Amino acid sequence: MARTAVSGRLTWRAATLAEARWESPTARTLVLDVPDWPGHLPGQHIDVRLTAEDGYRAQRSYSIASAWQPGGKVELTIQRLDDGEVSPYLTDVIEVGEQLELRGPVGGWFVWRPQQTAPVLLVAGGSGLVPLMAMVRARAVAGTRQPFRLIYSVRTPEDLLYGDELRRRVREDQGLDVHHVYTRKTPDGWPSPAKRIDVAALNTYGWPPDFGPDCYVCGPTTFVETAADILVALGHDPRRIRTERFGGTS
Ligand SMILES: Cc1cc2nc3c(=O)[nH]c(=O)nc-3n(C[C@H](O)[C@H](O)[C@H](O)COP(=O)(O)OP(=O)(O)OC[C@H]3O[C@@H](n4cnc5c(N)ncnc54)[C@H](O)[C@@H]3O)c2cc1C
Repeated sequence: MARTAVSGRLTWRAATLAEARWESPTARTLVLDVPDWPGHLPGQHIDVRLTAEDGYRAQRSYSIASAWQPGGKVELTIQRLDDGEVSPYLTDVIEVGEQLELRGPVGGWFVWRPQQTAPVLLVAGGSGLVPLMAMVRARAVAGTRQPFRLIYSVRTPEDLLYGDELRRRVREDQGLDVHHVYTRKTPDGWPSPAKRIDVAALNTYGWPPDFGPDCYVCGPTTFVETAADILVALGHDPRRIRTERFGGTS
């Protein structure tokens, strides 16, 4: 039984692009129809494989943005890297009705389960918000009021992902707080200058270590290392800090 489940996750499946929407000028959400999708946990990712006409293949990992619901689709949000090989194809080229191959879901550590009872601190850098958004959405689907705090570091207000949805969720999803850190340009009237994630932000807008929160940190490699180091320095239990590195630098 377990072996069947594992081999299912390792099998490449054809997925059809059912819908696509821009989240920012450079990030696009792909809504995929995946027949016989086994379901997933928030925080898991999939591998995407593209094959060119001459047989050349490229493969990349992408976090799942959607919370799983029976019969639901699998959503990814791709941040375009202008000099990238795969991401510009997924943001600018693939059209609704076309197919790509994927396998998964992958990952069992960087996941949040509604049964977890601790408060949750989510720390996102750029597109590192994607798997954390799946957790926020799964929390709403589960109907729990588990206290969640999200600290989201983003370059400019134009780069914000899921801006409208996050604003709505802060109003409607009781126990969810969101704080933004802008690294290059702030919105008009923002109380602090643009800056990188730092001790003050994590200390002020995170949970005190005494609360024993489960911490999830995701984004470019240097962002994740900086944020995780600060959390440890603030006194958080390293065993409760889960990290996911997307590669590149922040
Ligand atoms: C577990 C996991 C989950 C991921 N989930 C997502 C996701 O949800 N959304 C998403 O957009 N990306 C995600 N990524 C990153 C993704 O896999 C690719 O690395 C990214 O799309 C770049 O691929 P590319 O082919 O366009 O660029 P490449 O051709 O591979 O690289 C082009 C240039 O960009 C640099 N680079 C590569 N990756 C990054 C990065 N993440 N940040 C900054 N610079 C980078 C490279 O060093 C290189 O200089 C995830 C990565 C991992 C490991």
